[in-house]
Amino acid sequence: MPKVAIQDVRRYAKRTAALIVGLLASLAALATWAWHVRADIADTGLHPQVVDDPPDNAVTATWLGVTMLLFDDGETQILVDGFVSRPTLFESLTGRPVTSDAPMINYVMNEYGMDRLAAIVPAHSHYDHAMDVGAIANRSSASILGSESTANLARGWGVPEDQIVVAETGVTYSFGDFSVTLVPSAHAPIGLRGEVPLAGTVDEPLELPAPITAWREGGSFSIVISHPQGTTIVQGSAGFREGALDDVQADVVMLGVGLLESLGRDYTERYWQALVTSTGAMQVFPVHFEDQTRPFGEIVLPPKLIDNFVRTAQWLQEMRDTWDRDTRVYLPTFGQPLVLYPEQAPDA
Ligand SMILES: [Zn+2]
Repeated sequence: MPKVAIQDVRRYAKRTAALIVGLLASLAALATWAWHVRADIADTGLHPQVVDDPPDNAVTATWLGVTMLLFDDGETQILVDGFVSRPTLFESLTGRPVTSDAPMINYVMNEYGMDRLAAIVPAHSHYDHAMDVGAIANRSSASILGSESTANLARGWGVPEDQIVVAETGVTYSFGDFSVTLVPSAHAPIGLRGEVPLAGTVDEPLELPAPITAWREGGSFSIVISHPQGTTIVQGSAGFREGALDDVQADVVMLGVGLLESLGRDYTERYWQALVTSTGAMQVFPVHFEDQTRPFGEIVLPPKLIDNFVRTAQWLQEMRDTWDRDTRVYLPTFGQPLVLYPEQAPDA
């Protein structure tokens, strides 16, 4: 064996260590840079809805980030999703246990006048849709309507059983003048290998705090919310089942577009046709397009590295021009009531 001087070994070790530290620092700098490369929402070319003189009795939906939407006809309110607490990027990446942000929930319910809530309906049971449904239900008399997994989220919060409704396929649930039907659908296959991320079910009452991975999908739904003035579909995730909405006619689609760009244009075409072309919707509002690790109320596009909503928005407008020329695609404005059926609402 050749003799190696101890000094040489030390020098070699030092150089290797310096090289590794340098490489890691460069990688960190690169990741930080990539994290900050984001498009502006204005780059999407989409405009917000403008309705002159909305009638007093208009049915509205107020978008509160991701796919949280407060439906209101002046008498009854339906809340789709409950996601106010919005864990940070650090909490999301490290799996640090998180829980509902009580002061923020109190503020949001007060600020947006959630005092007539009849039902809370999450699109599925992932944390970015259902994290706060139990905490909100406990501050109201609203029913939580959803999957068995959603029911277990509610039970973890101690929501009384008479406020928990496990949705049955094909059954329509009435709340004031609203009728809600949950049509079984699919979650977008946006996992690293084309699988549904955090699939599976929540089989026991979920005690908090818990890591965000504890909120399992539990089955996804197209939420069909009908009212004498019109029908809106909320599609929380960019998944679909061929033919599932064949018998549903809608005026409005709240179109979940999270990571849709990563699934490609062909997939997006089929998604558009299943949700918009086949239902005949005249207004489409993309939702679930922002960086959900930002606090409630901060609407910023995600890093381009993660999701390119500008490209998705371009595709949606091209598909509208190809198949549904009279349909409008609007950007929802955070916290502003959207008028769902401007033509149908009789004058006040
Ligand atoms: Zn999801």
